[in-house]
Amino acid sequence: STRTRFAPSPTGMFHVGNARSLLLNWVVARQSGGALVLRIEDTDAARSRPEWTEGILSAMAWLGVDAEKYEGPYSQSDYLDKHTEAARRLFEKGLAYYCDCTREQVQERRDNPNLGYDGFCRDRDLAPASGRALRFRIPEGGPTVIEDRIRGRVEFPHEALEDFVIARGDGSPLFVLANVVDDVEMGITHVIRGEEHLSNTPKQQLLWEALGHTPPVWAHAPVLVNEKRQKLSKRRDKVAMESYRAEGFLPEAMVNYLMLLGWSPGDDREIMPFDAMVPLFDLADVNSSPAFFDEKKLRAFNGEYIRALDPEDFARRCAPYLRAENVPWKADDYDEAVFSAIAPLAQSRIAVLGEIVPNVDFLFLDEPVLDDRSWTKAMKPDVAVPMLTAALERFTDQALAWETDPLKNALEEAGAAQGLKLGKAQAPVRVAVTGRTVGLPLFESLELLGRDRTVRRLRSALA
Ligand code: GLU
Repeated sequence: STRTRFAPSPTGMFHVGNARSLLLNWVVARQSGGALVLRIEDTDAARSRPEWTEGILSAMAWLGVDAEKYEGPYSQSDYLDKHTEAARRLFEKGLAYYCDCTREQVQERRDNPNLGYDGFCRDRDLAPASGRALRFRIPEGGPTVIEDRIRGRVEFPHEALEDFVIARGDGSPLFVLANVVDDVEMGITHVIRGEEHLSNTPKQQLLWEALGHTPPVWAHAPVLVNEKRQKLSKRRDKVAMESYRAEGFLPEAMVNYLMLLGWSPGDDREIMPFDAMVPLFDLADVNSSPAFFDEKKLRAFNGEYIRALDPEDFARRCAPYLRAENVPWKADDYDEAVFSAIAPLAQSRIAVLGEIVPNVDFLFLDEPVLDDRSWTKAMKPDVAVPMLTAALERFTDQALAWETDPLKNALEEAGAAQGLKLGKAQAPVRVAVTGRTVGLPLFESLELLGRDRTVRRLRSALA
């Protein structure tokens, strides 16, 4: 049965490219009732760190691929014996040979710097010895043909493949070998990974064959690019899954969006839960051209997912943002009942959960956060002063019921008396009370804020 694997290296933040590879392997395993194997490729001891492994596991769980859903995690470093033993077997079968050339010697001998190793030691029959690298003997003839599920047939002429190193002079195996030996050991049937690995694939297919096994199904997913069509890079682009999580992207929206990079369920459908995609997905339908990772579109998806949450779930997911250490209000001033009352209004207006904070902060602060641009725009004295004065007059009238509709009517009348439509009339009031020109519906907000605090803010805006 089908066995896919996700094989990240714990050498940095879990990024969108990792997430995409994970999901492709997960969807293929799921749809065939097969298994997903998690293998942490930690053999680069200098760059691997346990916290990155933790990050991989937690990002996977966040995306919905938790420990029950995969086999492992295995650590590549635990299989070192298998890797060295495979290297030895290849040598014994004559499929690999020892080489004592130094880098300088190799360089001196070739006139084209793009050419690889020239095969100098191929027929020298060197015995194993410390300091001698073990090279794989590329068979005469060729080409090696990769039948890639996504990219189709890709041919690699053997003249273009050098006799590559599979174990260093100190005996330590190279990634290209370790990766294959593990896949063989773990019974992997489908290797689904990013396109950046395609240049390793002919070498790896030759290794599978040399080790006496039928190569797996290969599938190389297209690179992800930014809006300038540049390959996503962690220095330039926001790629860490943790950043998206912290900003308040929902994992369901992230999964949905990532699945649509180069693939579509058809009929122009876009918003679709992962489970519904499983039976529709086919690797052969994935487009091989670069896929644009469009954060704007992801945000739009996220907004849709937020609006579809049931209100309790929405409030629950906002809680960590409202109770975070860095909120602009004092912890004691946070009132959950007030939040629950305003939550349904906020739910339809935010695209990421973190945006909840600036939308509701005026309810929990003594003074609103005054946004300078909003203030300049809405507080032109000739409009703002008479409007705020009129609003104050009506709002301090105890005969006015402090509820959404009467508040709205009162401000509408006050505006009309100044010759202003409601939209214009409410702008200075909104800025005085919430600090900003845009936000939640004003009159519901005033009702929740209460008469005293509203009046105080109008007065201080006039002062
Ligand atoms: N450890 C490799 C990486 O993180 C994965 C290679 C593979 O999937 O075969 O890029």
